[in-house]
Amino acid sequence: MRNLLISAFAMLVFTACAPAAQSEIARTDFVLGTVCSIRLINGGTTKTTDEIFQRLRQIEDRMSANKDGTEIAAVNAAAGKEAVHVSEDTFFVISKALAYAKLTNGAFDPTVGPLVKLWNIGTDYARVPQKSEIASALKLIDYRNVELDPKNQTVRLLLPGMKLDLGAIAKGYSADEVAKILEKHKVKAAVVDLGGNVLVYGKKKDGSQWRVGVQDPRSERGEYIGLVTGGTMTVVTSGVYERFFIQDGKRYHHILDTKTGYPVDNGLISVSIITESSIDADALSTSLFALGLEKGMKLVESLPDVHAIFIDANSKVYLSPGTNKMFTMTNSAYTLSD
Ligand code: ADP
Ligand code: MG
Repeated sequence: MRNLLISAFAMLVFTACAPAAQSEIARTDFVLGTVCSIRLINGGTTKTTDEIFQRLRQIEDRMSANKDGTEIAAVNAAAGKEAVHVSEDTFFVISKALAYAKLTNGAFDPTVGPLVKLWNIGTDYARVPQKSEIASALKLIDYRNVELDPKNQTVRLLLPGMKLDLGAIAKGYSADEVAKILEKHKVKAAVVDLGGNVLVYGKKKDGSQWRVGVQDPRSERGEYIGLVTGGTMTVVTSGVYERFFIQDGKRYHHILDTKTGYPVDNGLISVSIITESSIDADALSTSLFALGLEKGMKLVESLPDVHAIFIDANSKVYLSPGTNKMFTMTNSAYTLSD
């Protein structure tokens, strides 16, 4: 399974027709709960990739909600009790997540943890919860009950049972941190793929632009609906294909509606964001998916230099203004809305 995923990954960013040059350095590992791959196309050494994976593990060890001993686990364990001191990393990501929660009126909400744990989507224990269980979990979800103290760099969850989950934003932050390491090592061109959260960095030797495939939400990873062309950028997709399970013929995916407690059901099957900062792209892909086409389109239109591609269950593709300049459809199973 893992090997399959690894081979599928390489296909989403197209670097050249010729086989990889001898100097290319690539490394793929399982971290941040997903398959992460780094390709140094021009510049850098194995030291660079070592440092990158060390950093990714450090972020996972700080921010995972599914592992003992992380800062998030400590914050969650102290819910309803004391404030917990966290690293600068974690404090920054929580602050960003809360800003997106505010911006989306709670459609995106990092306190979604109790619901995520209840559904267990993406694990062997995934199941449809009882209505009463959903009702109890919903009572604990409200980003306004997270107290941040910037001076002491502490986080406090006001109600017992509250749980933070940074799964919708941590990979984006990680990709931005990888870009910092690439810069430090003076890497000239690289492809970063953290479980489908893609960042293309720098300039290729031949001067040609990057071409990044936009995931086809109906198929396995590696199939795409079209190509985004450009310079340094990040392309992040949230969709129904990533983590899901099927019970009694119905499909349940992993982006949860913070109002109903069930997977978001608004006719969308994926949202891709193209922009410069990956933390914003990651938060926004989940946010716009949760908001739906109409509200999501309005939000993206208000944000400078952010582009979005929405796909609905009828295989219709909706582009935010200006996105047609960088995106070309290549998959005839989908139609572009006008
Ligand atoms: P992926 O992890 O596949 O890249 P996303 O970035 O969209 O996808 O994040 C989905 C994850 O975010 C879920 O697995 C869960 O941990 C968390 N999550 C689910 N629903 C929400 C929500 N409404 N707001 C914030 N985070 C959510
Ligand atoms: Mg996301």
